[in-house]
Amino acid sequence: MNAARPDPQLDAHGRLRHLLTVEGLPRELLIEILDRAESYAAAPGARREKLPLLHGKTVVNLFFEPSTRTRTTFELAAKRLSADVINLHVNASSTSKGETLLDTLKTLEAMGVDLFVVRHEASGAAHFFAAHAAPGVAILNAGDGCHAHPTQALLDMYTIRRHLGPRRDFSQLKAAIVGDILHSRVARSDIHALRTLGAREIRVVAPRPLMPAGIEALGVRVFHQLDAGLDGVEVVILLRLQKERMVGAFLPSTAEFHRDFGLTRERLERLAPGALIMHPGPINRGVEIEGDIAYGDPRSRILEQVEHGVAVRMAVMAMILGEPSRLDEDSQPAATPAARPRRAGRAAGAPAAPRRRRR
Ligand code: ASP
Repeated sequence: MNAARPDPQLDAHGRLRHLLTVEGLPRELLIEILDRAESYAAAPGARREKLPLLHGKTVVNLFFEPSTRTRTTFELAAKRLSADVINLHVNASSTSKGETLLDTLKTLEAMGVDLFVVRHEASGAAHFFAAHAAPGVAILNAGDGCHAHPTQALLDMYTIRRHLGPRRDFSQLKAAIVGDILHSRVARSDIHALRTLGAREIRVVAPRPLMPAGIEALGVRVFHQLDAGLDGVEVVILLRLQKERMVGAFLPSTAEFHRDFGLTRERLERLAPGALIMHPGPINRGVEIEGDIAYGDPRSRILEQVEHGVAVRMAVMAMILGEPSRLDEDSQPAATPAARPRRAGRAAGAPAAPRRRRR
C-alpha cells in the first residue's frame, strides 16, 4: 500500500480495523493472527469455556449468500468471546423491496452493532460497507463474490502451519490450488496469504476456461495438466466448481472435469510424502475429489480446516474489537478487557469499558 492510498483495513498505527482482504496485509500481522488463533485453540477448555473479551459487543452475521460452515463458525467464535450475536440472512426479497446495501447497513448500525460479518455475491461489497460504516463500526469480509475470503485463507494457513514442523517455516513449501480458480475467492486469498508467508512455489491448476488471464502476475505457476501440477507438492487445495457464478458453459461436463482434474487414488501417488489434502467446502463428491479420500484418507485435513475456522475467527474478531495488538507497545494485559485502551478511530467519547456504545 502506498502512502497516498492507505489500506482501509488498518488504522494509523497499523492495527486491524476491518478485515476485507489478505492482500497487502503485512506478514507480521498474519503471523499474529495465526499465533492468537493457536492460543485460543490450545487454551484448556477452549471448546466450552467462554472468554470475556467481547462481552457487551454486538456482532451481526449479515449474509446475503447461503453458507453453513462459515456462518456457523463465525457465530461460535463470537459466542466464545462472549459477544451478542445476531444472524441475518438477507434474501432477494428484501432487496426487491428496494432497500439498498447502504440502507441495510445504516439501519443495523442504528441498533448499536460493533462488527458486521458480511458475505455478499458482489465482489467489493465488503469494501463498500467499510467505506460507509460509521467510525468505530468494523467490517469483516466473509466472502465477496469472486474477490476475497480472508478468514478462509487464514484458517488454511493455520492448518498448513500446524504441519510444517517446529520451525513453522513456509519457505520450503510447494502448494497447488486446483479447480475453478476463475470463480474462487478462496484461491485469490490463499495465493496472497501463501505469498506473504513466503511459500517457495504456488501452483494453480485448472482447465483453460477456469484459469483467469494474467494470473501469473500474482506470483504463481500455471498448470493445465493435473498430474504435472501435483508432482511433489506438500499441500493440495481443491476448489469446488462454482456453478452459481458461471455465466454460460465453462466445461463440457462435470464427469469430464473429474476425469481430468479430480483428485483420485491414483493421483495421490504424485503428492510429496505426508502431503496435506485440503478443500474449503462444500465438497462436490466425485467431482473435484473422491468422497472416500475427502473423509477417509489420513492426509485429508478438510475437517481440521472447519475446526480451525473457529479459533482463527476468534483471533480476528478479538484483534479488531477486543485485545490489544502486539503493535501496541503500551498494551494492557488481555485478562482485563475493561482496561483496554480505545483504538484510534473509535467513536469519540466512547466509554473505556467494552460496553455497547449506543443504547
Ligand atoms: N466456502 C467457500 C466460499 O464461500 C468455497 C465455496 O463456496 O466453494 O467461497
